Amino acid sequence: MRTVSGSDHVVVVGAGFAGLSAALHLSGAGREVTLIDAGDAPGGLCATAEYAGLQHDFGPTVLTAPDILARPFEAVGATLNDHLELLPVDGGYAASYADGSMIEAATPEGVGQTCGPEEAARFADYLDWTARIHDAVFERFMNADFDSPLDVLSPDLARLAALGGFRSLDAMARRRLDDERTVRLATFQALYAGLSPRRARALYGVISYLDLVGGVYLPRGGISTVPQAMLAAAHGAGVRSMLGRRVRRVLLSGDHARGVELDDGERIPAGAVVLATERTAQAPELLGRAPVRRRLRFAPSCVVVSAEVPLAAVADRAHHTLVFGAAWERTFDELTRRHTIPRDLSLLVSIPAITDASLAISGRASLYALAPVPGTTGSTDWATATEPLLVRMLNLLQARGFPVERGSIRHVTGPPDWTAMGQPHGTPFSLAHTFSQTGPFRPRNTIPGLRNVVCAGAGTVPGVGIPTTLLSGELAAQRLLR
Ligand SMILES: Cc1cc2nc3c(=O)[nH]c(=O)nc-3n(C[C@H](O)[C@H](O)[C@H](O)COP(=O)(O)OP(=O)(O)OC[C@H]3O[C@@H](n4cnc5c(N)ncnc54)[C@H](O)[C@@H]3O)c2cc1C
Repeated sequence: MRTVSGSDHVVVVGAGFAGLSAALHLSGAGREVTLIDAGDAPGGLCATAEYAGLQHDFGPTVLTAPDILARPFEAVGATLNDHLELLPVDGGYAASYADGSMIEAATPEGVGQTCGPEEAARFADYLDWTARIHDAVFERFMNADFDSPLDVLSPDLARLAALGGFRSLDAMARRRLDDERTVRLATFQALYAGLSPRRARALYGVISYLDLVGGVYLPRGGISTVPQAMLAAAHGAGVRSMLGRRVRRVLLSGDHARGVELDDGERIPAGAVVLATERTAQAPELLGRAPVRRRLRFAPSCVVVSAEVPLAAVADRAHHTLVFGAAWERTFDELTRRHTIPRDLSLLVSIPAITDASLAISGRASLYALAPVPGTTGSTDWATATEPLLVRMLNLLQARGFPVERGSIRHVTGPPDWTAMGQPHGTPFSLAHTFSQTGPFRPRNTIPGLRNVVCAGAGTVPGVGIPTTLLSGELAAQRLLR
């Protein structure tokens, strides 16, 4: 593997999951680390806002793979449990369908109650298959760095091919599952990779594995406690943090970075720099280089509505509910190819207070509804499209039994907001995981011609999501440490 040279002091730009992970791994290996972020709090896209004392998320809500989250803590000699209490989310997800039926838990038992014992057995078989996919994918393709496409050649590649890992995820699920509702529950995760289940390679069954087999968790106190805990662990290990400080540029001399310059002109010298900012546009900008020039395909975006609801009115609901519209293929086509707002919306609804009652205040709870929508790639005029979309989201929520009124909405975040946060094409989900943007074909975490700058985050390897960006920080650190 190509290593990146650098002396003991490393500046990490960006305190999202990727930057926090890189900082902890570097610090644990004895490097002096300065972590800089333009935001006032750690976490980047994992953001929350408080309204009348109630915490509302508008970033990630589904936490999986606690073993991956544990790694940066362990790198500095701590444990995950020293810093966070992870509460299992019962049943993972519930699913609500347009025909009025519900699957109350994403488990064989939950499937069995709605779809019968034979489909439950088939679902269990599907989960077994995702476990085998995970075993074939994790070390070689997910927790892996690449200098060349040839790096993937290994017995695991043959194993993955034998498992059908390069076929369509949709096709592999339909081989095992009979009920359309179970197929949706088993494959909607392709959208996390920015793809339709039909276009996603079945190796992305690994996301279904993390969700449906590995389980979904909520840290007590809410998802934003994760970056806070990582920052606390970093401070405990001696990492110096500078929040609310924007890096203007990386100071370069020939093929080396010598440090960074902040917006106010302060210069921080460094022997190496980790750019845990958005890989395709922000990182090149800080280096004074043209953005990644290849034709890149970005994932669809989302609109997130955070509302306040009486806890008693949702107490019998699941923490996470997938609200499926009637359309399926057409919806993915609209999102990923036509770049239009789906005519038939689907939603992810999350009510964290169901798992952690301490998040409810005076009987009020936060309800989060995420609607997948196109980013700013298509022709949607978000200045006029947002309001009618909100009305449709509210109608759908009410039709599926969620008591969200117009006046209870506290926060709306959509493509123009993601753009304002520096996310290209108005999407916080970065590059889609098409075959040509996966593994060795994803923009690498090294920068051609620079010996001591390395990238981390959703836009490089391995990709989008909390576990993956945590791994990207670790991979970036390894480039500097080997
Ligand atoms: C609405 C939404 C829902 C999601 N749902 C899930 C989910 O349920 N489960 C899941 O696993 N993932 C989910 N994700 C994806 C996941 O949150 C992201 O992939 C991950 O948080 C990205 O982390 P990152 O460190 O790569 O980037 P970021 O979080 O974007 O961090 C980059 C940091 O760099 C800083 N920065 C940028 N430029 C500069 C500069 N010049 N100077 C200083 N600092 C700078 C920014 O302020 C930011 O803090 C979701 C994301 C969103 C937005």
